[in-house]
Amino acid sequence: MTQEDYRRQEAELDDLYRDIILDHYRHPRHRGHLESPDATHEGLNPLCGDEVTVEVKVNGMKLADIGYTGSGCSISQSSASMMTEAVEGKSVAEARRLISDFTAMMRGGEDIDPDSLGDLEALSGVRQFPVRIKCATLAWHTLDEALNAAGA
Ligand code: ZN
Repeated sequence: MTQEDYRRQEAELDDLYRDIILDHYRHPRHRGHLESPDATHEGLNPLCGDEVTVEVKVNGMKLADIGYTGSGCSISQSSASMMTEAVEGKSVAEARRLISDFTAMMRGGEDIDPDSLGDLEALSGVRQFPVRIKCATLAWHTLDEALNAAGA
């Protein structure tokens, strides 16, 4: 993809951004490091140059705290911010289910109840741009790996 193609695609993506996605991009939630994370995992999407590092604090069966750092396109960073807000304070089992539902939605799964995903459903428009789906799912796969690393 040339730079020009890339810019055109970004402009097209802008059209489908809903306020919620832009809001997370401009005002990221849970961005930064945790004081003493139980596990940290770095995820990379070389297709787009996105990086997301997820840190988790697991307390019993609960995802007590989560933070992320990273750089890359607006979809990858907004998705990371929306994810942290969606899973913080949930049980590890609920977080795993959200990871599974979200990635299924991004693959075009028809059997996902959109209500179960809340605001995250706003990212479903990215499916129109298959090459960018990995941008949206990067943080989620990274969280999955971080939970594995935490033994959760
Ligand atoms: Zn990207």
